[in-house]
Amino acid sequence: MPGFEIFGAEERKQVNDVLETGVLMRYGFDGMRNNHWKAKEFETAFAKRMDIDYCQLVSSGTAALTVALASAGIGAGDEVIMPTFTFVASFESILALGAVPILVDIDDTLTLDPKAVEAAITEKTKCVMPVHMCGSMADLKALKAICDKHNLILLEDACQALGGTYDGKPLGSYGDLGCFSFDYVKTITCGEGGAVITNNEKYALNADHYQDHGHDHVGNDRGAESHPFLGYNFRISELNAAVGLAQLGKLDGILKMQKENYSILREAIETIEGVTFRRVPEGGEENYSFLNFFLPTEELTKKAHKALSEAGVEACFYWYTNNWHYINGWEHLRNLKSLGNISSEVKNQMQDLNNTDFSKSDAVMGRTISSLIKIGWTEKQVSERATKMKHILSSI
Ligand SMILES: *Cc1c(COP(=O)(O)O)cnc(C)c1O
Repeated sequence: MPGFEIFGAEERKQVNDVLETGVLMRYGFDGMRNNHWKAKEFETAFAKRMDIDYCQLVSSGTAALTVALASAGIGAGDEVIMPTFTFVASFESILALGAVPILVDIDDTLTLDPKAVEAAITEKTKCVMPVHMCGSMADLKALKAICDKHNLILLEDACQALGGTYDGKPLGSYGDLGCFSFDYVKTITCGEGGAVITNNEKYALNADHYQDHGHDHVGNDRGAESHPFLGYNFRISELNAAVGLAQLGKLDGILKMQKENYSILREAIETIEGVTFRRVPEGGEENYSFLNFFLPTEELTKKAHKALSEAGVEACFYWYTNNWHYINGWEHLRNLKSLGNISSEVKNQMQDLNNTDFSKSDAVMGRTISSLIKIGWTEKQVSERATKMKHILSSI
């Protein structure tokens, strides 16, 4: 996920447009800004690229999830179903609203297992939040059927899968709402930033107001605007939006390079006995930001991961124990360690995460290795990496 690998003249030009006027805010100051509206321009361009009606830029991917949930009316005591393998932003955004994260197992897609989702639904469930981890997607058709049946909101966290598609639609545009992150290590970056996309006019309007203190953005005098409901500040700055605008122009080139490098690595290891790949649901295409593969047992996977890093094959992740993307690493969540008091809804409704059976997730994560795909690798570097991976995995 390499937007930072190609920061260059285009980004500097966009940022300089903003620096020349000094209007660092996305709203107002019409006379001073020399007609530069970087955040607005990004929103229009991104909505077009995502083939969707509305885009709301915000200050981070975590903010995007929070704003999306709030815009759909989710609040205290509402339950949101999320996977055991994800980035911490999933439960952070839910908890920030006083809502309750309900963690369920993943399957060999490395995302929500639809059967586990259905089993976790209660009267309080309001939303299902699949997270398209490491470049590929959840089984969205199955999840949508469950959401339709139980009248739930489907919110896609597509922060790690920008550019992937499902059923001919860009990931993030299939559910009721989709979220993206443009932090420094994502497919494209704003430095810090995020976006909410939707075809729902009401959610879009709610997001527009909520991320800017509830301002209704009617007229051009902020002091005279009205505030139909409470909001917060999750605004992006013009400088960050300007970087993203330049990066967005590079997205298709990034995706093409990722696919090329991914394909070379995959071809090198796919005939090795015992190596299998993460399942991509039918009708889906990855964004190729990671090559995710399984070995037959946890023991062999640990051995392979150690051998790969010792051989200098950088950026291969063993999430099961070596990282903070899996429930094993979330001691603070499992024990609800918080600076202040936690609301009674959350206390009463949270699962006892230290004693919940996630053996199905363990069985998948224990055997998963993910190789990051960089676009800055030279042809020689990719082919050397492929040879090393092939050699190490064959010998194991
Ligand atoms: C990066 C990421 C986020 C949060 O993004 P920030 O912009 O860093 O707040 C949320 N979900 C997933 C899956 C991510 O990878």
